[in-house]
Amino acid sequence: MNYISTRSAEKERKSVSSMYAIKTGLAADGGLFVPESVPALTHEDIEKLCALDYPHRAAEVLSRFLTDYDKEYLLDSANKAYSAERFPGGAAPLAKLDDTRNVLELWHGPTCAFKDMALQIMPRLLTGALKGTGEKREAFILVATSGDTGKAALEGYKDIDQIKITVFYPEDGVSRVQKLQMATQTGENVCVCAINGNFDDAQSGVKKIFSDKAFAEKLDKNGLFLSSANPINWGRLAPQIVYYISAYCDLVTRGDIKIGDSINVTVPTGNFGNILAAYYAKLMGLPINKLICASNSNNVLTDFIKTGTYDRNRKFYTTMSPSMDILISSNLERLLYLINGPKKTSEYMKKLADEGCYTVDKECLAKIRESFEGAYCDEVQTSDTIKETFENEKYLVDTHTAVALKCANEYIAQSGDIRPMVIASTASPYKFALDVLASLDDSISCDPLEALDKLSEITSTPIPAPLSGLDKREVRFKKTINKEEMLEEISGELGIK
Ligand SMILES: *Cc1c(COP(=O)(O)O)cnc(C)c1O
Repeated sequence: MNYISTRSAEKERKSVSSMYAIKTGLAADGGLFVPESVPALTHEDIEKLCALDYPHRAAEVLSRFLTDYDKEYLLDSANKAYSAERFPGGAAPLAKLDDTRNVLELWHGPTCAFKDMALQIMPRLLTGALKGTGEKREAFILVATSGDTGKAALEGYKDIDQIKITVFYPEDGVSRVQKLQMATQTGENVCVCAINGNFDDAQSGVKKIFSDKAFAEKLDKNGLFLSSANPINWGRLAPQIVYYISAYCDLVTRGDIKIGDSINVTVPTGNFGNILAAYYAKLMGLPINKLICASNSNNVLTDFIKTGTYDRNRKFYTTMSPSMDILISSNLERLLYLINGPKKTSEYMKKLADEGCYTVDKECLAKIRESFEGAYCDEVQTSDTIKETFENEKYLVDTHTAVALKCANEYIAQSGDIRPMVIASTASPYKFALDVLASLDDSISCDPLEALDKLSEITSTPIPAPLSGLDKREVRFKKTINKEEMLEEISGELGIK
């Protein structure tokens, strides 16, 4: 299985191995790597997967996409990444709310958010790729984060051989807890820095550095090369396909469905990575009927799926689900490629870069709407959903999951489609304790850190270990810079001129 860019035309196309795609992150023409074809998942395959534990399911699915890796290496990596020590609550347990709704809890890892699902295994895939391609240089991982990616990447890459990592986060776009988590990060090969601005400022700054040829040469002279841990790296995406297949298997083994029965999936969406992984699972042959793309007030994707026009020229809202406060969903490019091929994808991406807006043609929109529904949930609805779900179901959700839950409820009510719905739950409620607490009881006012204890008190649920005692840890990173200073900052940090 080889990988190609979403943007290069057929005749000038170069295909690369999965190791190369993971090592480099972004294709040379600025496009994203995609597999040349989608491997098939038969009903017999699903039946076999049902009998396996999560790491074995992961190795099995990953081996279909990452064919140049040794299967033993994939299994070893999955066993380490998804161990009971790292995921004390299980890697991706499926909680049942009622006969229709199931919550796929993707936040039992070291940072209590779903990014761990990919970022615990990704560094191992990268190490394998460096070895497998005879790479002598050190990989320099550069990340722009809206909060969760950064911390999860830091945890995944810290103190890993032949790798350095720098994370930029928007000063105005992460919660107090997220900030503390990153500022107190341990590890000798890590650097964390805040940017004045929002997530798109941080992300466009990082993209600029990735396309800076002079900087790449400088790095090379210093025995380094740039690599990405962002959701655009295929090594991030592939591990996310696994848990949708795993959730389906769990529904089968629980006796809720028979192999072949179809399900629906709702995903709280920002960069479109998580939901795209579900779409890949569907393309493989997993019986998924609809994918509900749930947005918060930054509902650029809802409008796109409704109208075919993607328009980022709009007001940017800072919401209580900050990991979804995104106006450019980078992974959407892969969906456009899958539906339109490279030529139109390049056109749309150019329009997006030049004008911040593009419209796909009718056939393309119809194809998207065959599989996707767009919905969004505002701030008041998010709070109400947290409160109602806890009161009615005794189930506590975070702000991102609440957005998805509300959109799923709405879809079920409006469509009458009651086949099993898998709702991706992307963060522990404790990661966004202050907003969750305020949603349950708006008379409580307290410090964001105190909120963890209060939330535990009033809901009788435990604080996950990675989030307790944050305020007692040493703050190692205190810097805030302007986005124009990012290159300078990195050069200083790496000691290159
Ligand atoms: C990253 C993130 C999302 C959005 O996922 P995408 O893959 O970017 O669409 C949703 N919720 C949480 C908690 C996240 O960290």
